[in-house]
Amino acid sequence: MRVDVLTLFPEMFAGVFGSSILGKAREKGIVSLNAINFRDYAGNKHGSVDDTPYGGGGGMVLKPEPIFRAVEDLLGQPTGEETLEPSGEKAPVRAPRIILMCPQGETFTQKKAEELAQEDHLVFICGHYEGYDERIREHLVTDELSIGDYVLTGGELPAMVVIDSVTRLLPGVLGNETSAVTDSFSTGLLEYPHYTRPVEFRGWKVPEILLSGHHANVDEWRRQEALRRTWQRRPDLLEGLELTEKDKRWLKVLQEEAVVKREKE
Ligand code: SAM
Repeated sequence: MRVDVLTLFPEMFAGVFGSSILGKAREKGIVSLNAINFRDYAGNKHGSVDDTPYGGGGGMVLKPEPIFRAVEDLLGQPTGEETLEPSGEKAPVRAPRIILMCPQGETFTQKKAEELAQEDHLVFICGHYEGYDERIREHLVTDELSIGDYVLTGGELPAMVVIDSVTRLLPGVLGNETSAVTDSFSTGLLEYPHYTRPVEFRGWKVPEILLSGHHANVDEWRRQEALRRTWQRRPDLLEGLELTEKDKRWLKVLQEEAVVKREKE
């Protein structure tokens, strides 16, 4: 996968792109990560990329020309290695997703990360100042993403969040020891609790079942605990989820336990 980030602060990405899982994925050649300063596309001698808003009011607005030029330049470049279909035919090169980081966008989720992980090329646009000229939104981007209902100074941290969660889903990036398959949200549930050595810490013991070596029982316990945690913390995630009869019986037990607890209080 190729990832290009258009930003006014490319230096912010050096640490994140060179460390941990992203750094390793880059070293293995699974992902190419590039931060590009769109001020280089300003097209004026002052390098100015923003201007005052029509209609007045505070704050500066990012101009359309530098961002359109930067994206068009990227699209004119080769997108990386050609891939072959099983038949030996060249796979069609898919158009990149052009993603605007923006608090007004679709809220980013694990499902969206899974969708973006199927792509060949992602281009992120990081805003700054008050906002973007609306023509960028209307005529250039394919997606608008928000990382939550709060406002940050720029799109750099949100873009890093999205890039990290997409990259860790690419085949070959995570080893078995850090598999994404059981991560919270990937299964539709929050993940079950984890324990490691020592078996007893300050009098608090690891649940007996995890020491039993009985894999089927451990799996069942983990499923039950994932259901419990989700039901307690994020019951909204259970709506529309396909549950087995066993799961439903367990949820009923949890509900009954909660009623008894409330009555005792
Ligand atoms: N005036 C804008 C508004 O009310 O929507 C907020 C602009 S914010 C100060 C500057 C930039 O930070 C945005 O253009 C966007 O790129 C980024 N940003 C801030 N919060 C964000 C969020 N929750 N998700 C994604 N990007 C965000």
